[in-house]
Amino acid sequence: MPQGLAAKAGTRFAKPHGPELQVDSGCSCTFECTTFTAFHGKSRYSGFRSQRNEKTAMKSVGYLLCAVLLFGLCNASASDQKLIALTFDDGPRPYILFGYNAPGVKPVPSLLDLLDKNQAKATFFVMGWRLLPNTYGERHEYRTDKTCLDAAREEFRRGHEIENHTFSHVQLKQFERTKGEAAAIADVDRGAQLIKTVTGSQPHYLRPPDWIMPSDLERDLQHRGWTVLTISSEMPVALRDINSLDYLCAGKATQCPKPSLDASVLKTIEARERKGITTHIIAFHELSTTVAALEVLLPELRARGYQFVTLQEYMNRVRTKPLPATMKGQP
Ligand SMILES: [Zn+2]
Repeated sequence: MPQGLAAKAGTRFAKPHGPELQVDSGCSCTFECTTFTAFHGKSRYSGFRSQRNEKTAMKSVGYLLCAVLLFGLCNASASDQKLIALTFDDGPRPYILFGYNAPGVKPVPSLLDLLDKNQAKATFFVMGWRLLPNTYGERHEYRTDKTCLDAAREEFRRGHEIENHTFSHVQLKQFERTKGEAAAIADVDRGAQLIKTVTGSQPHYLRPPDWIMPSDLERDLQHRGWTVLTISSEMPVALRDINSLDYLCAGKATQCPKPSLDASVLKTIEARERKGITTHIIAFHELSTTVAALEVLLPELRARGYQFVTLQEYMNRVRTKPLPATMKGQP
């Protein structure tokens, strides 16, 4: 690469003259900004110094060209990577996954069919107790002829990922305090074991109920191979969950985001895009109101160029790119 001014998104670099140029696009790209150096050098050293105003104007144009080039390259890089990891907690719930349609009852469209229709692969954070053979896993929940185990097998068969939301959906901080760390780890492991009976392999991701996890337990689970999902501002923004707040739209829904859940999620994504963030992990639940919102949201996001991938694929693709330090601590 020719010598020049190396510019990296999220870094601050000083010009020989004039103010610092902050490149804070929120994406990661690196290139040699020789254009600026050449242009700037010419304006200073090759006969354009008759007028101070002229020099200032030339420098400004140089800065502008460099900034435009940087923005273009970064933006091109970001648009290659418009990814969403759709995740659903608290299942498997057969009537949501397969849908339900009967006289006198509000029909529930199938979440699995909706995902297929939108070429979306998703990740389901299931509660282990729903996969228990001979008991809960095999009951015909609600109004369907399918069991929870049928639903989990069908998720896996259609190419979705199944990850761990603990066995008993306990609040781990409180659970650890009363039962001890070994019991908390055992609850996580029990959930994992039941998932393994469906998928044949060990899950790797753990979303603690309500995202509540004592730091010592988190550290120990990480040592045991778990990647713990979080909403903590300590985590780079592209690797932390977006709380869709969809649970507020179930039941009486008095606190459901206004004007609608789909509009609210879209607004959150647009706010992140303005900071150059085009990769998102979104936490939903298996709820009929969520399926209704996704019927609007998924086609809209696809039209905007988003791809819906499993969490594993998301991590593979997002983690290969260095995340700028500036992405830490942003909302
Ligand atoms: Zn949950």
